[in-house]
Amino acid sequence: MTYSRITLNKGKETSPLRFHPWIFSGAIAKKEPGLEEGGLVEVFSSQNQYVGTGYYANGSIAIRLISFTQTEIDENFWYEKLNKAYSYRKQLKIMNEKTNVYRLFFGEGDGASGLILDYYNGHVVFQSHSWGIYLQKENIISAIKKVIGTDLKSIYDKSAETLPKQFTEQVKNGFLFGEEEEVIVKENSHVFKIDFIRGQKTGFFVDQRENRLLLADFCKDKMVLNTFSYTGGFSVYAGAAGAKTVHSVDVSKTAIELCNKNIELNGFSNHAGYAEDTFDFLKDKKGVYDVIILDPPAFAKSRDSKHNAVIGYKRLNAMALKLIKPNGLLFTFSCSGVVDKNLFFNTITAAAIEAGRNVKVLTYLHQPADHPVIPYFPEGEYLKGMVLWVE
Ligand code: SAH
Repeated sequence: MTYSRITLNKGKETSPLRFHPWIFSGAIAKKEPGLEEGGLVEVFSSQNQYVGTGYYANGSIAIRLISFTQTEIDENFWYEKLNKAYSYRKQLKIMNEKTNVYRLFFGEGDGASGLILDYYNGHVVFQSHSWGIYLQKENIISAIKKVIGTDLKSIYDKSAETLPKQFTEQVKNGFLFGEEEEVIVKENSHVFKIDFIRGQKTGFFVDQRENRLLLADFCKDKMVLNTFSYTGGFSVYAGAAGAKTVHSVDVSKTAIELCNKNIELNGFSNHAGYAEDTFDFLKDKKGVYDVIILDPPAFAKSRDSKHNAVIGYKRLNAMALKLIKPNGLLFTFSCSGVVDKNLFFNTITAAAIEAGRNVKVLTYLHQPADHPVIPYFPEGEYLKGMVLWVE
């Protein structure tokens, strides 16, 4: 197959030749007329040197490269890509006798911007964040079937809410293979009910697995507050680790219901779920806590909202810090890609000053290996956190 040809402006090949997969519209010198959103393209430098193969989008990121070697983008291409992602996770033993939920494919970190696949004990949730990936759906589905083999129970397409706005109308979420059934997964031996059809994102926050495990080390006999709890990931670990009491707070009532269900599934009872806004909850000071977890949704989704996001993180963290008992712990996170590590850590410092508390940084936290960060694409590092000892 011949792909549409793109020629870059002089010098604009440097970044993709260093394996950065994004090409901005301003870097393009020449493109063929009639090139449509999602169409496959081959990119060449002004000197006619091959740079990469990718797909086109009308927007500031005009091309997302999915290959740096000249190749056919077919079923076999996707099989090799997915198999590489799967083997990497297998070698790292991310799936094991204790854990059967993980991210199978993480966009640029696995070499295809716009593609997210989460694995829930045999059920795969497919989420495309771009039209170019959506157009490759058939090939990707065949590849998933081949890679997962007989363990595969279903594939659910949840792209309707993540595709660019102009496509969301034409697309419906639904099963591409298999059908709806109750899905229960194991994460570090804790069980969770997953509702990827009605739940937020792909149904579960797979990226906090290791941080939840670390939290468990500090929860025995403690009063624990888990805010933005969603389906109760941190709450379940805290409960199982012998916390005296766990409070979970989430503004979504359905999230709290699922959280309560998960607490029950794990046979733990000293728990209360509050369907409330975290800011209000902290203001009301319903309790004093030894350990507080703050894992809010991304406060900034774009550069324009960065400033307000920082103000939000500062306010939230200052409120929580004021509420923590002496010698308590704060687990605080940000999943806003545009708020980088340094900015987040400086914001937490400002919050500690405002709260008038002396703190020590016990450790820095990040996303796990099934959300790989590649050095050529630092933008992929989105989850950062820290554990603070609060005097
Ligand atoms: N910590 C969770 C993931 C958090 S996702 C886990 O480990 O699974 C963010 C959650 O914050 C969502 O469930 C969303 O419903 C909730 N949320 C958003 N704004 C909120 C607010 N102002 N107060 C409380 N919860 C909020």
